[in-house]
Amino acid sequence: MDYEAMLDRAKEILPDETAESSRFELPKVKGHLEGPRTVINNWVQIAHALARKPEHMLKYVQKELATPGEILKDSAVFGSKLPAAKINEKISQYADEFVFCKTCGKPETKLTKEAGVYFITCQACGAKNSVQSRI
Ligand SMILES: [Zn+2]
Repeated sequence: MDYEAMLDRAKEILPDETAESSRFELPKVKGHLEGPRTVINNWVQIAHALARKPEHMLKYVQKELATPGEILKDSAVFGSKLPAAKINEKISQYADEFVFCKTCGKPETKLTKEAGVYFITCQACGAKNSVQSRI
């Protein structure tokens, strides 16, 4: 199966997780395989849609997938062959942990770090919640 086919298949299989909690639609990865590597061309674009730093999102995803990664221009390059669905799943997890408000589910939030702990402050409802993940 080539990468585009994997992407299409991922679209069919993945449930629309964002529909229930929020109208915000999480962008899906666009990418291709380059030898033993996976290149995601719209990494920076997705991070910006979430108003997060591309490097921070990469740090989380590469740890979750146990694969080294780096940012090259607007892309993320991972050191192994990864199905698009896996990466979409981890970005969705990242958004759940570091972007969406735990109180109202909206994505308009700010991420801050205080004494080693991340906090999400919601610009819609004003709630402030700590993040469980340590990255
Ligand atoms: Zn909120």
